Amino acid sequence: MKPFPRAEISSKALQNNLARLREIAPGSKVMAVVKANGYGHGLLNVAHCLDSADGFGLARPEEALALREGGVKSKLILLEGFFSQIDLTTLIEHDIDTVVHNEVQLELLESSILAKPATVWLKIDSGMHRLGFTPELFDAVYARLEACPQVAKPINLMSHFACADEPDNPSTKIQINLFNDLIKDLPGQRSLANSAGTLYWPESQADWIRPGIALYGVSPVIGDLGANHGLMPAMELVSQLIAVRDHKAGEPVGYGSSWYAKEDTKLGVVAIGYGDGYPRNAPEGTPVWVNGRRVPIVGRVSMDMLTVDLGINATDLIGDNAVLWGKALPVEEVAEHIGTIAYELVTKLTPRVAVCLD
Ligand SMILES: *Cc1c(COP(=O)(O)O)cnc(C)c1O
Repeated sequence: MKPFPRAEISSKALQNNLARLREIAPGSKVMAVVKANGYGHGLLNVAHCLDSADGFGLARPEEALALREGGVKSKLILLEGFFSQIDLTTLIEHDIDTVVHNEVQLELLESSILAKPATVWLKIDSGMHRLGFTPELFDAVYARLEACPQVAKPINLMSHFACADEPDNPSTKIQINLFNDLIKDLPGQRSLANSAGTLYWPESQADWIRPGIALYGVSPVIGDLGANHGLMPAMELVSQLIAVRDHKAGEPVGYGSSWYAKEDTKLGVVAIGYGDGYPRNAPEGTPVWVNGRRVPIVGRVSMDMLTVDLGINATDLIGDNAVLWGKALPVEEVAEHIGTIAYELVTKLTPRVAVCLD
C-alpha cells in the first residue's frame, strides 16, 4: 500500500516544464531554482529529473552541498551568497557560484586567500530593495570586484523583480531599463527573470532565466494557471478518506463546532491536516478532489484530519483517494481559496508527507 498523505512528483511534468521554458526563452540558459527542497518536491528528485538544466539556483550553502553530496555535477549558484568565511571556503572547494549582494561579502572576498577565484554574480538592487547594491554604489563595487584577485573574471550581473507577477505593473519595465543601462558595456553573463519575468516580460530573459515555480507547473500570477502556458503540475498531494459518516441537519463538525449542516448529508474525513502542512486557515468551501468531483471542506482543519461534505447521495468509501491539489485541482485554485500563494502551499509540507517520485 502506498503511504498517505503523499506528494506524488511527476518526472514527466518536470521535464515537460523545463522544455516548455526553453521554448518560451529560446535564447537563454536555464538556472532551475530548486531552493526550499525543490519547492517541496524533493531537492534531489528535482535535480536528477532536471539534470539537463544549465545550472541550479539555491538559497543556502547547505542546499548546494546536499546536491554535491547527491552526486550533482551541474553549475550551482547561491542566490543569497555566502554568510561566513567557512561558507566561502566551502563553496570554492565544491565549485559553487555565488551572488555578492552586500558589503560583508565583498570584504570577505577581498580579505580571503582562496584555492581558486570565486565565480560571482554581482547583484544590483534595481527596485526590489531587498538584496543588492544600489545603482549609486554599482561602479565602485564593480571596480572593487574587478580589482580583487579572488574573483573570477568576467563578473556576472543579476537583479531580481519585485512585481513581475503583475503584468500591468510598469515597475518591471523600469527595473529592466535601469539594469540594462548600468551594465550596458560590461562583459559577463546577465540574469534578471524569475518565472514571472520569463513568462510575462520576454525582454527580461537575458543570458539566464531563473525559473522556480513555473518548473513545478504553477503560474506565479494570481488568477492564471500553469496550464495556460503549457506547463504541467508536478505535484499531486494525495490522501485518503478514513471515515465516511452520515450527518444530520443541525449537527456540527470538528473543533469549535464552527460549521453546522443545513440538511442531512454525508461527511468524509480526510487524513491530512496542519501537521502535514495543509493550512489550518483553509476556509469552509476550499475544494478537495474526491472521485472525480470537487467537494468542500467543512469545519476546521485539525492537525491530522479535515472534513469534507460529500453530499447526501455520496457513494464514496473509506480508503478512496482524496486529492488536495494536482492535475484536476490546480494548486493555484486552492491557494486562492486559502488566501495565500501556491508557492507557500507546496513548500510548507512537513516531513510527515512522503515525497514520491514516479
Ligand atoms: C526564488 C528565486 C527565483 C525563482 O522565483 P520564482 O518566482 O519561483 O520563479 C529567482 N531568483 C531569485 C533570486 C530567487 O530568490
